Amino acid sequence: MTARYRQGEEMVLLPLGGMGEIGMNCYAYGYGHPDDRRWIIVDCGVKFGDERDPGIDVILPDLAYMEAERRSIEAIILTHAHEDHLGAVAWLWPRLKVPVYCTAFAAELLRGKLIEAGLERKVAVNVVRAGRPLKLGPFAVEFVAVTHSIPEPHALAITTPAGTVVHSGDLKIDHAPTIPPLFDEDRFRALGEAGVDAFVCDSTNVLREGFSPSEADVARTLKTIVGEARGRVAITTFASHVGRIASTVEAARAAGREVVVAGRAMRTVIEAARAVGLLKAAGSFLSEEAFGHLPPDKTLLVCTGSQGEPRAAMARIAEGTHPAIALDRGDMVVFSSRTIPGNEKAVGAVINGLAGQGIEVVTSGDALVHTSGHPRQDELKAFYGWLQPALLVPMHGEMRHLERHLALAREAGIREAIRIEAGDVLRLVPAPAAVVDKAPAGRLHVDGRLIVPAAEGPARFRRKLSFAGIVFISLVLGPKGQARTPLTLVSDGLPRDDGGAGRLDEVLLEAAEDAFDALPQSRRRSDADIREALRLAVRRAADAVWGKKPVVHIAIHHL
Ligand SMILES: [Zn+2]
Ligand SMILES: [Zn+2]
Repeated sequence: MTARYRQGEEMVLLPLGGMGEIGMNCYAYGYGHPDDRRWIIVDCGVKFGDERDPGIDVILPDLAYMEAERRSIEAIILTHAHEDHLGAVAWLWPRLKVPVYCTAFAAELLRGKLIEAGLERKVAVNVVRAGRPLKLGPFAVEFVAVTHSIPEPHALAITTPAGTVVHSGDLKIDHAPTIPPLFDEDRFRALGEAGVDAFVCDSTNVLREGFSPSEADVARTLKTIVGEARGRVAITTFASHVGRIASTVEAARAAGREVVVAGRAMRTVIEAARAVGLLKAAGSFLSEEAFGHLPPDKTLLVCTGSQGEPRAAMARIAEGTHPAIALDRGDMVVFSSRTIPGNEKAVGAVINGLAGQGIEVVTSGDALVHTSGHPRQDELKAFYGWLQPALLVPMHGEMRHLERHLALAREAGIREAIRIEAGDVLRLVPAPAAVVDKAPAGRLHVDGRLIVPAAEGPARFRRKLSFAGIVFISLVLGPKGQARTPLTLVSDGLPRDDGGAGRLDEVLLEAAEDAFDALPQSRRRSDADIREALRLAVRRAADAVWGKKPVVHIAIHHL
């Protein structure tokens, strides 16, 4: 350590997402005097939108606080390449403009995103290796190899003159992963012996007891299933799960089957994996076009769509609309995945589509065809034992996970465990830990090509529209406030008639006309007054007939 600790300096954690919600993992670590801190940002991930935000596929953490501190940020460090940890970098980097550090595999996938964003020449992406600490201002950051569900996952040991914090990233303990590297248990033990002040740890699987099965266990099950199958076998899994792809390929080779890969995301990941030396023993894969020419018992398809994503390969196969791939009665589909909460309906629709074609479906409820990449209770306890942290801060999970993680840590005898929320600035060292400040934290929506605020952005209005439709009324006024032409009305998303055979549009137009006629001359001088009177009248009339109030816009033209 070069820098010396000076009185009053502290190490803080500021989560900007990923606390109490799924996705959007982004954590800033600060060091220094409270009014003069240096920062590193660990991970910068997205969250995926759902039907609550119409038209929004991707949600980003709002880093406004960090943008204001831009000159104090040493780097963005990525623990691994999952979207919920890396997906926001290409969107938010132009607002931060700081160097990025990650391992080779994450760098490969990030490069693709930067090219799409036209940023590949601007962003300095530094490739890191495990074991060699990075010096970033007052921080020394060491990548520690762990096991998870994507290549090259790492925990971080972050040391400053005040102490050492271990940030778990996403990890599990798997002593038999299907791709290298091995989990570095020795390094965790050594860190614990040297002294860990705080452990900021993955909570995703804290509700589950015991130890999670290994990837090797899943590989064995897949080998048995594929070995016994007579027809075609299709295996769908997470596009980035290279270890699982390796297991499916092994199962195919053992059964003398060719491997066809479908889904752009999976092909991109396979390319990135090969670029960093993985999947060497997998042999070559065939393209989608080859699928139709192979005998059923010589075919294994590995594809995207395990979450029921409507545009992914599996959904199109289930619908019978895939241009190159069709399955028949007697074929089998294996969901080598778990359904992420929120995706149950979409996955159910795909499974029903397959069942309707007489295709056998195997899920993780039927056989050990999936294991999580996150730690169960006994794995967490093993970490506590190695690291012996003075403080535990749960992260990466919903509120119920974070709360359960607190209880587990206390049961295990960790002296202090604190749950914080996005925007809390938590002093980690020196003890005692305490929330010492609040920073604004929120979310942004990616809307088409634009980044817009989430709270007051367009999705809010679209939500309203989806509930009750929209009415436009236009009126043309003469110099004295008299209507020069009849009012006109256009609507969308409204029922056609008023329930009594009349047209709802006409009822609303009449209400607007009556309201205009009833306006005294004095109020016709103000466009705002006219608008308000007509809007109220139309909404009231709609409510009386329909029981709903549409969005109403009034356009006034002056002659
Ligand atoms: Zn994650
Ligand atoms: Zn992950």
